Amino acid sequence: MTTATLRGKTALVTGSTSGIGLGIARKLAGAGANVILNGFGDADEIRRIREDISAAFGVQTGYHNADLSIATEISAMMEYAQAEFGGVDVLVNNAGIQHVASVEDFPVEKWDAVIAINLTACFHTTRLALPLMRQKNWGRILNIASVHGLVASASKSAYVAAKHGLIGFTKTVALETAQTGVTCNAICPGWVLTPLVQKQVDARAERDGLSNEEAKKALLLEKQPSGEFVTPDQLGELAVFLCSDAASQIRGAAWNMDGGWAAQ
Ligand code: NAD
Repeated sequence: MTTATLRGKTALVTGSTSGIGLGIARKLAGAGANVILNGFGDADEIRRIREDISAAFGVQTGYHNADLSIATEISAMMEYAQAEFGGVDVLVNNAGIQHVASVEDFPVEKWDAVIAINLTACFHTTRLALPLMRQKNWGRILNIASVHGLVASASKSAYVAAKHGLIGFTKTVALETAQTGVTCNAICPGWVLTPLVQKQVDARAERDGLSNEEAKKALLLEKQPSGEFVTPDQLGELAVFLCSDAASQIRGAAWNMDGGWAAQ
């Protein structure tokens, strides 16, 4: 696979204090990009993550604690990126949350929160990052959607709607930037064992009286034909490829990395 050389570029990865976002941030740093982290977490742990990335890859790191459900905090994060790093060359809209309930029982405030973070925040970061990308005539926008942007699951209506919406948004941005050096694509992971999914493993274990390992197997067997979790590192490698020159004509695509889930 052709990989990108991102030395001198800056990548902002939302929701990168854990899970997939952290895996992607590390791989982008490995390709030479300075990385700005975002997300919630313990201050000492975030400092340790930054030091670790800088030491391993010789890049600069930043952090902005914006709550992505609040538009003014997103604006402040983009101002920070501009002031400290001269803007954002690679924008990875990764932060996401989920709520599980049937449509009739779905609390309205949970619906709003899931849409705000998984979809509306991506609109805000993109509209603020695009002008400078256009000026430089180079940019990469990667939206971390989900296999749930391609197929539905019962009890995840807001998440499924947000991720389908994010793929539609991705295609629209790709068309609006088609004749520029800016590309916009989506990545659609299947199960990845992150804190988000561990909660579902825990719920399954409790519901069915299973051990942690049994509950993981049950979840995988139900949906993911490979029977294995996708890893944050694998998603990071795909992100680096989508930033490369070899990927410059990949536009408005939704790349699934899901162990075969969406093929069923
Ligand atoms: P995670 O819970 O491990 O990490 C989520 C990150 O988002 C954390 O850094 C958290 O602090 C941050 N975050 C949450 N709410 C935020 C807010 N309001 N403002 C700022 N940051 C916020 O989740 P993950 O599993 O790594 O998921 C990352 C992305 O991948 C999400 O968009 C998720 O929908 C998607 N995804 C995950 C899986 C999976 O199996 N884990 C599968 C498909 C898609």
